[in-house]
Formats: sequence, C-alpha cells, structure tokens
Amino acid sequence: MRFDSMELGEALIRVLVQLGYEECTPIQEACIPPALKGQDIVGVARTGSGKTLAFLVPILERLRPGGEVQALVVCPTRELALQVGEEARKVGRPLGVKSDVIYGGTSLGHQRQTLLGGLDLVVGTPGRLIDFIDSGYLSLRRIRWLVLDEADRMLDMGFIADVDRIMRKAPMSRQTMLFSATLPPAILNLARRYMFHPLEFRAEPRVTVPPGIVQLFYRVMESRKSDALRELLRIERPSKALVFTSTRKATAELASQIRRDGFEVHSMSSDLSQANRERALQAFRDGRVTILVATDVAGRGLDIDNISHVFNYDMPLSSEDYVHRIGRTGRLEKAGRAITLYTPREEQALAEIEELIGQKVPRATMGEFDPDAAPARPLAPTIRRGSQRGRGAGRQYSHAGSDRSSGSSSSSRSGASQDRPGSGPRRRARGKRR
Ligand code: ADP
Ligand code: MG
Repeated sequence: MRFDSMELGEALIRVLVQLGYEECTPIQEACIPPALKGQDIVGVARTGSGKTLAFLVPILERLRPGGEVQALVVCPTRELALQVGEEARKVGRPLGVKSDVIYGGTSLGHQRQTLLGGLDLVVGTPGRLIDFIDSGYLSLRRIRWLVLDEADRMLDMGFIADVDRIMRKAPMSRQTMLFSATLPPAILNLARRYMFHPLEFRAEPRVTVPPGIVQLFYRVMESRKSDALRELLRIERPSKALVFTSTRKATAELASQIRRDGFEVHSMSSDLSQANRERALQAFRDGRVTILVATDVAGRGLDIDNISHVFNYDMPLSSEDYVHRIGRTGRLEKAGRAITLYTPREEQALAEIEELIGQKVPRATMGEFDPDAAPARPLAPTIRRGSQRGRGAGRQYSHAGSDRSSGSSSSSRSGASQDRPGSGPRRRARGKRR
C-alpha cells in the first residue's frame, strides 16, 4: 500500500514523498490505518522494519501545533531517541510541528529552555523525562499520544518502573502505541495494564526455533569459560552433547579438558583426516562418545538424532549460525537444551539473535563464573532478567538477585522496578554432581 492511498492529508503525503517514502512497509500498512482511527497499537517487528513512521505518521497527521506537549515518545537510549527525534523533525517541521529530544547525560539547563520554548512533540529517555515531569518542566496534561519505542530494550535496561510511572501520569484519554522487536511477558503485561483493546501486529520472525528447544544464555567471565562449561556438563549430564567452539585449536584443547573430567569426548575439526572424522562421528552417533566438540564447519550438516544438548562454548559468528547450531538438538519434536556461554562484551550479539528468532532467551549466571559476582559464592546457577519463568527453562536454576542496571541515563530509580527478578530466594541447584 502506498502512503498516498491512505487517509492522510496532502501536506503530510507531500512531505513523505519528498523524503522518499512512497510505499509502506508491512508494519506501517497494518498499524497506520487503525492508529489514525485512535486505536491503541502493539507492533512487533525487527529492527529496520519501519516502526518509526508507523507511529509518527498517525500522530503527525492529527497533531495541531499549539505549543503544549501533545505527543510523547519514550525510547530506551539516547541514540535511539536522537534517531526518532530526527525523523520527527524531518517529517514534522514542514507541517509546523515543533519537536525535540530530551535525554540523560547532558546538562539540564539547555533542555529546560527547549521545553519552556514550547514543544508539540517530545522524544526522550525514561530517566530524564521523569526528571522533567517531576520538576514540572514537562507537563503530561495535554498528552494525546504516548509511544513506547523499542519496549523490550527498555525492559533489558531496567527502565520498566520509569516507563510505568510515565504511563500512569499521562491522561487516560490518550492513545498508546507500543513497538518492540520482541514481546517478553513483562512488556505484554505493561500493554495489558495500560492499553485499551490494542491492535496487535506481529511480523513473522525471519526464523523460528523449534518449540522443543529450551534456550539459555549463560553469562560468564572470559577467563573461566572452560570451567563454566565443565560445571554445566556436570549439572546438565547430557546424554549426547555437541559443543561448538570458534577455532580448531580451541576444539582440541577443550576436548582434552573435558576428557579429564571423565567424559567420553571427541573433537572434530577440519584438520582431522577424513577417516578420523568418520570414526569420531560414528562413535558419537552410536553413543560410545557422549560429547563432540566441533567448529561450525565441522558441525554443519551433522545429521545425528537424539542430541540432548547443544553448548555454544564460543558465541557463533552470526545469528544465523546460532540457529543452525541449536537446530542440531530438539529434532523430531524431541526436547533439547541449547546453552550459550557469553561474556559481557557479547551482549549485542545476543540481542541480534533474539531479534532473528523473534523471542527473548532467558539469561542466567553461575556463581563464581559470573563476571559481576563477588568472589567465592556458592555454586548455584541463577536465572537473570528476561527469564521465561515456569516454562521449564529454569528447571534447576533459581532467580538471581544480582541484577545490574546496564542502562545509561539518569535513571537510578530503575533499581526499584517490580519487573526485575530480584526478590526470590536463592536456591541451590538441584542438578546432581558427579
Ligand atoms: P525500526 O524502528 O523498525 O528499526 P526505522 O523506522 O528506523 O525501523 O526504519 C528503518 C529505515 O527504513 C530508516 O532508514 C527509514 O528511513 C526507512 N524507512 C522506513 N519506512 C520506509 C518506507 N515506507 N519506505 C522507505 N524507507 C522507509
Ligand atoms: Mg526503531
């Protein structure tokens, strides 16, 4: 569908065409018409699908500039707020709409002046918005449109309590639109609490993971990765496990470390002769060997049934590789577990994986291997935020109290968020050791 065949004013269509926007993206086509009628919207689609215009177009079509804030867009980070702010300025300014961006980490003075100058549309990060709301510089009295953009990232960053507060303060009569790349339970709850019969649009994820695969992301210290993996092997006791590494060298080293723990293990990489590879594979297939350590190349196309576990010892190079790797388990509707070790600097890769598969994966940490933990804590694996509680994923893990605010911004309040798994008692892992 084209923008000029939607029920939009000529002025807005002209601006859109000037900016090179003619044909709608699917989320725009699905969301703009009902949004123009005032319906609340929940839109789920990956990055780059055109979510920004999906909310800006219906707002800018109806906004009559008046110098009081009528539209508020909440974004998780300063970068995202600036991007949305830029788009709002480009489309809005020719229509006479004054907009600006409010974010933490900069001086309050300048942004205060901007607000006092009279804005119609404000884009901002939660902490700083709350500062201005509390100090009276930003009034939500005239808000007609409230947008939560990248809602799942707000959850990741611990902003949910702030967002909740903003939603409570805005007039009930407003229209609410929520956009997100994934829809974890805490975000769904937020939508249920504050939205009125929203239209729900979900773009098909590009890839779906078989439902039988339980996924976990384990946060570990770089220097303790092999210890963490070996502890996981002791806890999980896989009947047949594939362990993926990124290099051939790591493959052999890791295999010999695991072997010292008493597991039957083979490694497989491209420097093994064809005959040896065949032998290793056959032993793994027959169950004489429980664990196969392999690189992506060696693991590609392995057609072996009954793999109970896939461990990503090293993060895959791409999200697609992740899906290929974990697809080795959970075959033929059998249950499988896919456990990925990651270090703090690999967070971004996790987000990309989640976006590709269209779902959130529970995070976990494990006692002494947790990069954030104080040393010498008992070895009890714990689930971190974003967990799918009660879905079996957390079978032998308890909820962690150790949640950090990875967020930037001025939001120190976020520690009080009720959506953070912070209160549960720490239970010992039930998994047997051997
Ligand atoms: P998302 O918020 O879903 O990640 P954006 O709204 O940031 O996506 O849009 C991604 C890119 O696609 C931007 O560069 C934007 O200008 C462009 N874009 C959005 N909608 C259209 C459209 N209808 N036609 C052409 N380009 C578009
Ligand atoms: Mg966006």
